[in-house]
Amino acid sequence: MNAQAIHMPVINSLDFSRKAQEFHDIIPLLRFSRLGEYLADANGSLDITLSGVVGKSGEPGLRLAVQGALNLTCQRCLDSFEYLLDVTADFVLVTSEDAIPSPDSDEYDDEVDYLVAETQMPVMDLVEDEILLALPLAPKHAEKDCLASSKVELEKPSPFAALKDFKVGGSQND
Ligand SMILES: [Zn+2]
Repeated sequence: MNAQAIHMPVINSLDFSRKAQEFHDIIPLLRFSRLGEYLADANGSLDITLSGVVGKSGEPGLRLAVQGALNLTCQRCLDSFEYLLDVTADFVLVTSEDAIPSPDSDEYDDEVDYLVAETQMPVMDLVEDEILLALPLAPKHAEKDCLASSKVELEKPSPFAALKDFKVGGSQND
């Protein structure tokens, strides 16, 4: 078994879980096809670890950890910035869609995701789904690092600001 050598690993998810197998790889961002449109550029790579685990009640499961830095475009100033991704997701494997407990039942665990077991599961799909879920909907710099917010501060000492002060009344909503 040499998981590292497999370019695009496909696992038998139940088997992988029961045998407590582990897959670890460092995957360049370029290899994720769906991720591209969310990235400012495809520089960098992500550290992926997928492990076969046993759930709280002995059910077969998978644990996925994804870590790394990617470049997103700030929605406020349109400049790119580095976003640190650090995601851990737990999955419980079920044999079919019907075996997923309904959200209001006692067996339902909202800390895990239910995943239908497959004999040929592409690891990349699972990883990419998880990354897409983890990305912010409207990525933005932290306020202090954002070009758009520093621009606002630079405008303050402009001569026009001083002129405004001479206007009498009615300009409070400017
Ligand atoms: Zn910004």
